Amino acid sequence: MTAEAIEPHGFCAGVTMAVAKAREALEGGGVVHCLHELVHNETVVGELKSKGMRFVESLDEVPDGGTVLFSAHGVGPAVRRAADERGLAVIDATCPFVARVHRQVREYAARALPVVVVGHAQHVEVAGVVDEALDAGARVAVVAAPEDVAALPFPLGEEVGAVCQTTLSGDVVRKVMEALRARHPGLVTSATAEVCTATRDRQEAVRRFVASGGDGVLVLGSASSSNTRRLAEIASESGAKTWRAVDAAEVSDLDFSGVRRLGVTSGASTPEEVFADVIESLV
Ligand code: SF4
Repeated sequence: MTAEAIEPHGFCAGVTMAVAKAREALEGGGVVHCLHELVHNETVVGELKSKGMRFVESLDEVPDGGTVLFSAHGVGPAVRRAADERGLAVIDATCPFVARVHRQVREYAARALPVVVVGHAQHVEVAGVVDEALDAGARVAVVAAPEDVAALPFPLGEEVGAVCQTTLSGDVVRKVMEALRARHPGLVTSATAEVCTATRDRQEAVRRFVASGGDGVLVLGSASSSNTRRLAEIASESGAKTWRAVDAAEVSDLDFSGVRRLGVTSGASTPEEVFADVIESLV
C-alpha cells in the first residue's frame, strides 16, 4: 500500500486565527474561559487546557471580572450583550466566514425576508446564526436536508433569504438550495449560501483523489467536527474505503488491508503535527 497526503489539510485560516488568539490570551498566565470548544479537536483543546484555559458551556460559569473567548463558531447577540452587561473582558475568535453569515442574516431581516438557515440545528454555529436572525426580528427556520424544505413554516412562494452552516457537504447544500428554489422561486442567496472555501477545497480534493484511482481515504479529525465527518462521508460516497481517526495512536489500530492507494486528509481543526505524525507512521 502507498500512502499520500491529500492537499489541502491542517488548520484552515479561521482555526489558525482562533488558536493563535487563544494561545496569546493564555501567555499572561491568567485564566481564560472559552465558551464551548474553541475548535472541535481533542488535541487542540487538551493543549489549551494544559495552559490554563477553562471550557464552559454558559456565561454563568465565567466569574465577574473574568475573561471570555468566543470560539471560531461565533455567538449570537444575546451572548454578546450578556458579556457586555457583566463587564467581562471579551476575546472574539469568530471566524470571518461565520461573521459574514451573521451580517447577511441581519441584512435579510432589514429587508423583512424570512431566513432559512441550512445546517444542523444543534450545532453552536447554527445556534448563533439563528439567535442573530431572531434578534434582528426575522422569522427563521433551520433545514438540514432537501426533504426538510416541504415542512418550512413560510407560505409557498414567499420570498425568503438563505444562508448555510460553513462546514456542510457542498453537494447537500446545493440540493437543499434547489429544493428551496422550487418552493420559493424568489429565493435570495449570496456567497453565504455556500460552504466556506476551506471546507469546499478539502471536499473537492478528496473527490479528485478518489477519481484519480485512490481506493482508501483516512480522515484525521474529531468525531465532533462537522467538516471532518463530511469529508469521511464524501470519501465513502465517492467509492473509497474510509476511516476516521483522531491521531497516530488511533491509526495504529486500523486495518488497511486490501487498499492499494491510501489518501490522508484532515478536518480543518486537526493540527499539522498530528497529520505529519500519521504520514510518517504510514510511509
Ligand atoms: S472551517 Fe471555514 S468557517 Fe470554519 S473556521 Fe475554518 S474557515 Fe472558518
